[in-house]
Amino acid sequence: MEAQKELKRDEIAEELKWDLALMYKSIDQWEEDFKRIQGYLDRLMLFKGTLKQGPARLKEFFELDDEFSRLIEKLYTFAHLRSDEDTSHSQNRGYYERILSMHHQCSAALSWARPEILEMDENQLQEYLKSPELSFYRFALEKMLRYKPYTLSEKEEKLLAMAAEVTSVPYKAFSMLNNADIKFPKISGEKGEEIQLSHGVYSQLLENHNRKLRKDAFEGMYSTFEAMKNTLTTTIDGAVKANIFNARARGYSSALEASLFKDNVTPKVYNSLIDSIHENLPIFHCYISLRKKALKLDQVDMYDMYVPMIPEYDLKVPWEQARTWVMEAFQPLGDEYCKVVKNAFTERWIDVKETKGKRSGAYSSGCFDSKPYMLLNYTETLNSVFTLAHEMGHSMHSYLSNSNQKYHYADYSIFVAEVASTTNELLLLDYLLKTQDDPQFRTYLLNHFCDGYKGTVYRQVQFAEFEKHIHEKAEKGEPLTLDSLNQDYYELNRKYYGPELENANDLIKLEWARIPHFYYNFYVYKYATGFTAAIVLSRNILSGDQKKTSHYLDFLKAGSSQYPLDILRHAGVDMEDPASVSGGLKYFDTQISELEKVLGI
Ligand SMILES: [Zn+2]
Repeated sequence: MEAQKELKRDEIAEELKWDLALMYKSIDQWEEDFKRIQGYLDRLMLFKGTLKQGPARLKEFFELDDEFSRLIEKLYTFAHLRSDEDTSHSQNRGYYERILSMHHQCSAALSWARPEILEMDENQLQEYLKSPELSFYRFALEKMLRYKPYTLSEKEEKLLAMAAEVTSVPYKAFSMLNNADIKFPKISGEKGEEIQLSHGVYSQLLENHNRKLRKDAFEGMYSTFEAMKNTLTTTIDGAVKANIFNARARGYSSALEASLFKDNVTPKVYNSLIDSIHENLPIFHCYISLRKKALKLDQVDMYDMYVPMIPEYDLKVPWEQARTWVMEAFQPLGDEYCKVVKNAFTERWIDVKETKGKRSGAYSSGCFDSKPYMLLNYTETLNSVFTLAHEMGHSMHSYLSNSNQKYHYADYSIFVAEVASTTNELLLLDYLLKTQDDPQFRTYLLNHFCDGYKGTVYRQVQFAEFEKHIHEKAEKGEPLTLDSLNQDYYELNRKYYGPELENANDLIKLEWARIPHFYYNFYVYKYATGFTAAIVLSRNILSGDQKKTSHYLDFLKAGSSQYPLDILRHAGVDMEDPASVSGGLKYFDTQISELEKVLGI
């Protein structure tokens, strides 16, 4: 693997590199397009103060603005993909920074448009909504107008915009501590060598089969956060208060409501997710007991939650094999879908190999006027086959939305973003479970699923519930102190993990202090809803019912043409119905039993 890391880009076969020439043949072409920005901006600025003149005028503005955004996105996508090929290439980094800063400038220059629309009086807005000229933009306009009751006067809006620089400080302070100033201890490795802890090393160590290493890593990590506990109480208190300040200033009834408003999700979805998980905690407790038995431990602790329940399993999956598996696993989605997946390989949408300086990890990224490219760092592990299936899910979602929607509604929302990717992972899981007999392989697959479900559903809902607690507490005027945060977190942890972890290492009470997501303003519940929806939808697809599959494909084609919950409902999963969450939980339950069986315990 180390040798692979040193490979240079020009040593990699063309067919394993993405083909960005499909966007721009040369950087000169990109420069030509870049020069067009100013002309668009000048033309758009001529609309300032005129949007009230009538629906036709507004339509003209929207259309020009769409054209302009498409151009900016294309320039941006190309520059960021090219820069990620080798992050140390300063010239390519330069193109990326140029378009990024140009984008910020343009957004600032055009920031008058939205308030100008929202300022119109009710009668005029109703006339606009009914006008045939604006029929295509009606939904976009409606979405914008939902904000009218929460939009303040120009002077107040200006104040809030100024305050944003201040209210973002708690998160910035946390990030600085967590990424820059933090000093982790060294722990001693299996052969007595020193291991310098870091965020990355910590997660690797928690997956190690040596329990002492896991325990030392855990204690090393938490003692580091314990040393900063008072400062971190202050940063989280500040972040919560900032959310409450913003929500109250605009007249929302709570910080939770304000945060969910964007996706048109009601607190009911959030609360019923938590309720369903509460009702089904015994399933999670069974999983913990299985973990204890599989790891042959008398007692489990929080540092035993990430190590795979199976002995090390080193299966090499060559790229060709991964391609075949993925193509076959997606068969239930139909020929049309599979044909495009094939194109993704032959038209070179994917950058497969790890090379010197290439950005790490994996993603799917593109725009309306490009292929939905995928960046991978494929390492021939089973995990990286699942990553391929995952990113292909995102890319196919983008491809189908881009080809079936006009630009304005092509981009899907974050709320549904992880549904298509997780669905594809679940299809791959099902395919491999059906076709592979090797018990070790099957154990690996079931463990992979169960651990994924634990981390994406139970853990994230626990976080979501903690977030809700601390916001409600602060909204009632109760102070968030170190002791109250610790106690609240510890109790919640105990509730979720159940009897086997009744007396878990006390340091876990500080977990809130190290989780960046608590600064993301009610974000994590989306991981759980996305995974849940994917389970229900993948079961629908695998049932063989063509109608259900075609509803799922409609979802992939819908972009943001409706609200996310409506799109999902049409696809076949109602996130307001607790039955959806329990459907996912039932599936988790059966997979635990399967795992129990193959493990022979
Ligand atoms: Zn993803």
